[in-house]
Amino acid sequence: MYNIYEQKRCARCILPSDFPNISFDENGVCNYCRNWDKSWKNFDYLKAEQKLIKIFEEAKSKKRQYDCLIPFSGGRDSSYVLLLAKKKYKLNPLVVTFNNGFLSEFALKNILNSVKILGVDHILHSYNWDHLKRMYQSTVKNSGEFCSICANGINYVKIVYQKKYDIPLLISGGSSRVDEQSPFEIISSHPKYVKNVLRKDAFSEDEINNFILPRRYDLNAIDQIKNKIKKDDYVRISLPDFMPWNLDKIQDILMKELNWKTPNKKDDHIDCKYANVKTYFKNQQIPGFVFKQAKYSQLIRDGQLTREEALVQLQVLIEKEQEPANLNEFIEELELSSDDIKNLDKKSHLNFINKNNLKDKESFLYKAIAMPYRLVKSL
Ligand SMILES: [Zn+2]
Repeated sequence: MYNIYEQKRCARCILPSDFPNISFDENGVCNYCRNWDKSWKNFDYLKAEQKLIKIFEEAKSKKRQYDCLIPFSGGRDSSYVLLLAKKKYKLNPLVVTFNNGFLSEFALKNILNSVKILGVDHILHSYNWDHLKRMYQSTVKNSGEFCSICANGINYVKIVYQKKYDIPLLISGGSSRVDEQSPFEIISSHPKYVKNVLRKDAFSEDEINNFILPRRYDLNAIDQIKNKIKKDDYVRISLPDFMPWNLDKIQDILMKELNWKTPNKKDDHIDCKYANVKTYFKNQQIPGFVFKQAKYSQLIRDGQLTREEALVQLQVLIEKEQEPANLNEFIEELELSSDDIKNLDKKSHLNFINKNNLKDKESFLYKAIAMPYRLVKSL
């Protein structure tokens, strides 16, 4: 049995010595902890709140049909974003859910309850399931994961609806403080990587490009001009970057205010019925690597979990590491065979993309054309 206590780990969080790009200082504290401190240790909440209110006032002052777009999964973080945006900050949001085909019963109930209680406009966007399923099949077979398709689906609805209704602000619940920050070596949902996988399976360029849209923040200067994107017109914020984000307290508030429900307060991603399959695949891919340790480490840094509690939970996860009860349901729903999920340790997104080809190479001519735009943007 793999024993987590035998491995060298950061003295403060629980990241192990084989975590990508990790290094330890003379006190045994890792670089991920030190970087976290730089952003969050002396965080000025008062100043952040003022900044937030200014962003909201600006969005409201544009007097569009909607002040902001909120991607909504029915999970903890996006539910809290929606609650605060509507009730506390009096924004008029368009709420949009990407139907990834795997929405849990809890998520669906939470979504329907929340939009009713808060009285907001909501769109549940379902993409052609046959097409979606084939894309899931492709990433599972080739690189042993399926979350990248969902991530690109969420990006798809963000772009489509922000453009359709000319919405000036996008508010999400992702957090660089409490969410796991998995390095590229562990996981990627980059459009370039997904495109490479789908091309291998003979998807047409149209099929690919109709769904895998460039992420707004990846657009280069010329594409931004082509798409007529003005700097102040697509403001994108993560609400947890502006305020305390205590997972326990947030869930208590949601239960009270939105009749929100969860199967387990300790679980992340209660919105996806196959979240455990994702974790299982990843742990099979990288033996001895426990996916949850990055998340626990964030919670330790933020004071929401002690290092001892995290180690105990980690050992429990390892000991019960076995095939998820709903693995067969997953295989059947995606019309896969059990052979398709064999040899997971040989499958990885890294077989389709490497760090160096994530960024577009810019020619000299391109740089020269883009320079004036960049100068204006940086003013
Ligand atoms: Zn650390």
